[in-house]
Amino acid sequence: MKICVLVKEVPDAAVEKKVDPSTGRMDRSGEKNLNPYDTHAIEAAMQIKEGGSVPVEEVVAVTMGPDSAVRALHKAVSLGADRSVHLSDPAVAGSDVAATGYALAKTLQRESPDLVLLGQQSDDGECYTIGAVVAEHLGMPSLTQVIKMDVEPSESHPPGGSGSLRCERQAEYGYDTVQIELPAVISVGDAINEPRYPSLKAIMGAKKKPLDTVTASDVGVDPAKVGGDNSGAQWVGAKPPPAKAAGEIIEDEDTGETVEKIIAWLDQRKLL
Ligand SMILES: Cc1cc2nc3c(=O)[nH]c(=O)nc-3n(C[C@H](O)[C@H](O)[C@H](O)COP(=O)(O)OP(=O)(O)OC[C@H]3O[C@@H](n4cnc5c(N)ncnc54)[C@H](O)[C@@H]3O)c2cc1C
Repeated sequence: MKICVLVKEVPDAAVEKKVDPSTGRMDRSGEKNLNPYDTHAIEAAMQIKEGGSVPVEEVVAVTMGPDSAVRALHKAVSLGADRSVHLSDPAVAGSDVAATGYALAKTLQRESPDLVLLGQQSDDGECYTIGAVVAEHLGMPSLTQVIKMDVEPSESHPPGGSGSLRCERQAEYGYDTVQIELPAVISVGDAINEPRYPSLKAIMGAKKKPLDTVTASDVGVDPAKVGGDNSGAQWVGAKPPPAKAAGEIIEDEDTGETVEKIIAWLDQRKLL
């Protein structure tokens, strides 16, 4: 089995996220990090590999992003991925969700994975949709919010198939249990596991693991379908949330008057 994990470089959690009004794109000038949700996807891949119920030939981390995104790939390999692929091309800069998903799918097609894993969301865009877009382009089934994943024994696989997964996905009313044939695209919820910390040795060795940097044309991306100008969604503006009015403080003087003030306040707002 070959597993590809989609990983993304995002602004560090401590950095205030803002859009550069001159370009309409996210300001990515500050400190950046591997999207924390993606560490759960890498951990899920490693648990399948180390679990031994199916042989996993390799775990490949895949990203699309500017030169700096290579650091997210180094982090991914320090967490266990065997190698990484970086789609980096000015043609894809400014792509919206649909264009990003298309370009990632083309990059994945070249790898022919049996399983594609993603995080549930990115910490910056928070669209929660890339998994579905990628699956549609690859013609693979897709599941979201998966919090448990077991590879089914090979006897139950259809002839010629690459296996199946029995998944539990988190829903508002409880859990769905879903059987899914591979190849498939799965985005994992952050409740699926506790990601490991990379060892010092793994961090030091990360830059030595194979990294394949590819352009849009290398993976067959049609330049007319990617980039800001070719994206259906255009950023037109952002407003900060309205400032909250100061709250009213009713001092507790342990008197009937305090209670009356609170009741009057609630009554005025029809909360009683
Ligand atoms: C008008 C517009 C312009 C934009 N311009 C830019 C831009 O110039 N530069 C830019 O970086 N973004 C840009 N974006 C945002 C970009 O399209 C989104 O980041 C991207 O579509 C993914 O959405 P998301 O990050 O919310 O993914 P989600 O669906 O929330 O992420 C789920 C998972 O998908 C995977 N994933 C998401 N993105 C990537 C990626 N790039 N590589 C690998 N895996 C990934 C990760 O596993 C992640 O956990 C723009 C968006 C819009 C709407």
